Amino acid sequence: MSRQIAILPGDYIGPEIMGAGLKILAAAAKITGFDYETTTYPFGGSAIDATGEPLPASTLAGAQAADAILLAAIGGPKWDNAPQRPEQGLLAIRKALHLFANIRPTQVNPALVERSPLKTEIARDTDFVIVRELTSGIYFGEPRFLHDDEALDTMRYQRSEIERIIKAGFELAMQRRKHVTIVDKANVLATSKLWRKIANEIAPQYPAVTMDFEYVDAAAMKIVTHPTSFDVIVTENLFGDILSDEAATVTGSLGTIPSESRGVSGPSLYEPIHGSAPDIAGKGIADPLSMIHSITLMLRNSFQETATADLIEQAATATLHAGIMTPDLGGTATTDSMTDAIITEIQRK
Ligand code: ATP
Ligand code: MG
Repeated sequence: MSRQIAILPGDYIGPEIMGAGLKILAAAAKITGFDYETTTYPFGGSAIDATGEPLPASTLAGAQAADAILLAAIGGPKWDNAPQRPEQGLLAIRKALHLFANIRPTQVNPALVERSPLKTEIARDTDFVIVRELTSGIYFGEPRFLHDDEALDTMRYQRSEIERIIKAGFELAMQRRKHVTIVDKANVLATSKLWRKIANEIAPQYPAVTMDFEYVDAAAMKIVTHPTSFDVIVTENLFGDILSDEAATVTGSLGTIPSESRGVSGPSLYEPIHGSAPDIAGKGIADPLSMIHSITLMLRNSFQETATADLIEQAATATLHAGIMTPDLGGTATTDSMTDAIITEIQRK
């Protein structure tokens, strides 16, 4: 039975990198026999232009019915003064699909280790995943207000929200090096104290996994100084936002990194971590790697389709080793020429 993938190309460079990624997926699937179908839906700014809404009902229905969702990027200056913002579409789809866990692998492509600000031998061995809670915490806590001389945000967590994200972290660790680090600020925050209590309750269910705790300030330093000490980091929404951008920076290339947003049940949403890059849109130079890696993450995590994912990743690495890369990585390739080179590598296998 063919796997159904909902495609949300979005805005600015979104359709450019989505087109590249889907061409590469098609070439690899032809060789491995991976059986899938895609349906494309409007989402974000382009959906506002077409329908007046960033998340049209038909897009949500299509996404809900799919086995996985691939999103490129949305938003940009064109909609700065629009009555609805493209980003509201993203918040709405996360909410509707209960996408509570944002999973960001941090690894440096072997062909790009010199671009990382880390020492080469550390960069080569860096391989950790940040599991960020995505639906609660200070982003959503009530009450909140903004007055002229005072403002309030509320960091609030329910037991059930903490349990499910910590379990997601342990499950992931079971498939990796079996090490979970809970990152918090338990010396000052009540929410962090509850996280620690619940983590200590859950840990005995996973006797094979080692768990430790780290304050977020210490973790921020270690991501730069000792990134190889991490396997799976589990953390709340705001800390995860900050740490995952820091982690992206240590790999040295924003344009290469994917993410998965996972729900309770139902499809995961896969997308690059970067935005729609309006400054380079239409120039044909967007780096397709973040989209390609979003696709391989989907193949592995939603479809257990390791052979197709390996084929694509090996072809991408070989292409980088041959020096064929877009300007953000120091090369002179266009999106199209890099994509064609990767497809040639795939067909050579
Ligand atoms: P957002 O708020 O949506 O995350 P942002 O302000 O962080 O957006 P991005 O769109 O992520 O900005 O882009 C940041 C910089 O990185 C820009 O200069 C952009 O051109 C560059 N960039 C982002 N993605 C890519 C890519 N795939 N290829 C090349 N350059 C990229
Ligand atoms: Mg950004």
